Amino acid sequence: MPDATRYHMTPDEFRVHGHALVDWIARYWERVEEYPVLSTVEPGRIRDQLPATAPDEGEPFDRMMADVRRIILPGITHWQSPSFFGFFPANVSGPSVLGELLSAGLGVQGMLWATSPACTELETHVLDWLVDMLDLPGKFKSTTAGGGVIQDTASSATLCALLAARERASGSQANQAGARRSLIVYTSSQAHSSVEKAVMIAGIGRDNLRLIETDEHYAMRPDALDTAVERDRRAGLAPCFVSATVGTTSSNAIDPLGPIGAICQRYGLWLHVDAAMSGTAALCPEFRFIHDGLEHADSYCFNPHKWMFTNFDCDCFWVADRAVLIRSLSVMREYLDNEPTRSGAVFDYRDWHVPLGRRFRALKLWFVIRHYGVKGLQHHVREHVRLAQEFAGWVEADDRLELVVKPPLNLVCFRHRDGDDATRALLDGLNATGKLYMTHTKLDDRFTIRFSVGGTLTERRHVEQAWELIRAACEQSP
Ligand SMILES: *Cc1c(COP(=O)(O)O)cnc(C)c1O
Repeated sequence: MPDATRYHMTPDEFRVHGHALVDWIARYWERVEEYPVLSTVEPGRIRDQLPATAPDEGEPFDRMMADVRRIILPGITHWQSPSFFGFFPANVSGPSVLGELLSAGLGVQGMLWATSPACTELETHVLDWLVDMLDLPGKFKSTTAGGGVIQDTASSATLCALLAARERASGSQANQAGARRSLIVYTSSQAHSSVEKAVMIAGIGRDNLRLIETDEHYAMRPDALDTAVERDRRAGLAPCFVSATVGTTSSNAIDPLGPIGAICQRYGLWLHVDAAMSGTAALCPEFRFIHDGLEHADSYCFNPHKWMFTNFDCDCFWVADRAVLIRSLSVMREYLDNEPTRSGAVFDYRDWHVPLGRRFRALKLWFVIRHYGVKGLQHHVREHVRLAQEFAGWVEADDRLELVVKPPLNLVCFRHRDGDDATRALLDGLNATGKLYMTHTKLDDRFTIRFSVGGTLTERRHVEQAWELIRAACEQSP
């Protein structure tokens, strides 16, 4: 081997350490339920154990893995624990992690079709598959004027949708300083923080974001949207963009897309639908009610990296009119020029999101879909929903607890009838046991526990055990 490469890990060394690491991950998954779910390290504890400066001399791989065990693992909150019921899941699976590894090994940078045709074409193809799998409107298929792309996160998808909407509303003015009209954005008061962030990044301004009231199910009230749009129009402003949510983060509320879509149509507003968590449910025909009215949408996204067994990051984003999205994000330079791009026969995904470079994320998604098949994915989604519904029934039947809303899918919101302090004490006490992890929100300004079922390894016994712990804690509380 030539001297200049003597520092590299050889293929033989990689083979040995790689096999050992795959073993390590498999063993981790087998034993993850034995770890305290929530890491309890104090701030600074991890860094205190790390050397102040980087090593001058390279170290053997085994030393790194020893430090993973000793230093890193105690600082891990075990998102893959079957008793992780916090936030929303970020579930992973064997095929997805292997797809990720393959993507890293191929080391492809897919900014242009020409920089790796398979990276682009597999992505386009799998996103077309998903249009059928989720029964999304046909206009999102790449064979029409629309198409799909993988974004890192739903936050980026919402930002890109807003940039395309701004482009459509104000044409080339959008990218010229000083020419901006007062574009107005609407979302519900329960929408994810990423909508507000997108408004900030896109230069729309927080003052031009309207948080629309919700109904008793925490879903956007179309009449309130209508009133707000009318008011802004009368004030000479330019209503532009509505972000509706299918499965809000706080309570899983589902905005009524039909009536919201009709308003968008009437006033020519861009309708984006954020189904980050709940979109996965549409794999099952019986849950497709969540998408009633989606035919009105100009764009849509959901996160396979939440509930579809595909490790972070992977958000699928579709638009009905790809030309306007591309127009809002495309910048040409000589070094990016190539014949396939000029021919117009290919997608260059650099023009579909904010960064130039992009990873080969479609591999893991393709592996997941092929490993499980539609049937396998449906099975697990149904199971999660069934377990959450059963859990909600237990909560409802317990007179110390209150079920805050009837859960549409797999998120259960509940609180202690004795009030916020009792609910908070219940949550903190349970999380401190390390035997499960739940998080909270506020609904109607009242402290509320969220119990989110969606882990790859979560089985009925883990949900039962969580319920036993909750019940026992209620009994102990004064
Ligand atoms: C989780 C979530 C997001 C943000 O997801 P990222 O992919 O992390 O940006 C956006 N909207 C909703 C409704 C969510 O639940």
